[in-house]
Amino acid sequence: MRSDAGSADRPGLGGLRLIDHHCHGVVTRDLDRTDFEALLTEGNSAGPVGGSLFDSGIGFEVRRQCAPVLGLEPFAAPEEYLRRRAELGWREVSRRFLAGARLDALCVDTGFAPEPLTAPDELGRLAGGVPAHQVIRLETVAEDLVRAGVPAHAFAQRARARLAQLAPGAVAAKTVAAYRCGLDRIPVAKPGPAYVASAADGFVRRAGAKQPRLTDPVLIRFLIGVAVDLRLPLQVHTGFGDADLDLRAADPLHLSPLLHELAPTGVPVLLLHTYPFQRSAGYLAQVFENVFCDVGLAIPHTGRRSREVLAELLELAPFGKVLYSSDAFGLAELYYLGAALFRQALDLVVGDLELPPDEARRVARLIAGDNAARVYRLGR
Ligand SMILES: [Zn+2]
Repeated sequence: MRSDAGSADRPGLGGLRLIDHHCHGVVTRDLDRTDFEALLTEGNSAGPVGGSLFDSGIGFEVRRQCAPVLGLEPFAAPEEYLRRRAELGWREVSRRFLAGARLDALCVDTGFAPEPLTAPDELGRLAGGVPAHQVIRLETVAEDLVRAGVPAHAFAQRARARLAQLAPGAVAAKTVAAYRCGLDRIPVAKPGPAYVASAADGFVRRAGAKQPRLTDPVLIRFLIGVAVDLRLPLQVHTGFGDADLDLRAADPLHLSPLLHELAPTGVPVLLLHTYPFQRSAGYLAQVFENVFCDVGLAIPHTGRRSREVLAELLELAPFGKVLYSSDAFGLAELYYLGAALFRQALDLVVGDLELPPDEARRVARLIAGDNAARVYRLGR
């Protein structure tokens, strides 16, 4: 693939604004080096003998592309970078990176907050006053109900009512089944009321006094069915994620039978992140009319190689089926770096199609935001 910056046959996408269709909030505190590096990896650290996370694809991109946003030279030393970051404070750092990402809108998964994070409204303000829409995490809704003391016999009805109440204020639902039971264990058919009741009984009993954690595939399939009945586009975590995940069970190909089952509903299913299964995801997006995909998360984490990752997704995926996401969580740099690397990758990949300039711009705009606007019915 070409890497000659600024060649005449490139669409030149520097000014293109993006819709980040899946991200989380930013941590609302200043970070020391350990905390910073912990947020720069899907692990916890490089390990006691593994060196620094700055010595990685993403680490060097932080130094190359993020340092100038903080007023430093590209490749400023990590110590200097973190000193400057501390000097500016988390709010100013977040404002610079979120505004610098040049987003038209964000879709924010609010269901995972191990510590205080910016709410969608604040994230939208930091990004320059753009809309920040909510994505409902299905497992969190179920866990909140059980934490609030809902008895097993009322679980199904209360979960349905709660999702119906949340749906008008959200653009999508999301499942983390890949983390909780594996994509290979989600039942294909909607479970009947007796199965749901017995699964709810087990979930409530196991939760007991502990923090409830929904891992039951029957209940997860039940919640997916409710979201689809409400016609909420369904985001599904697939591929790469943190160490909590068995990556083998996160291959989106496991979803084929379920996708067949959901196809007649026409409700959009969005395969999030997908790496290293992006070619399989591209296939699914081609063969199922209602399936869409992205390579978020992998974009910042694969650094300079993100252009190959996007190119592989676009080998089979129709251009109307691919969206942009950062899957940024916690660290403001990830929103900026995701967007910057995505624009660079898109510029190269679309450039390689050797299209007339107006067609190249149109294809790039589809992937940058028009597809997301259509799927989530966002006004632009
Ligand atoms: Zn996410």
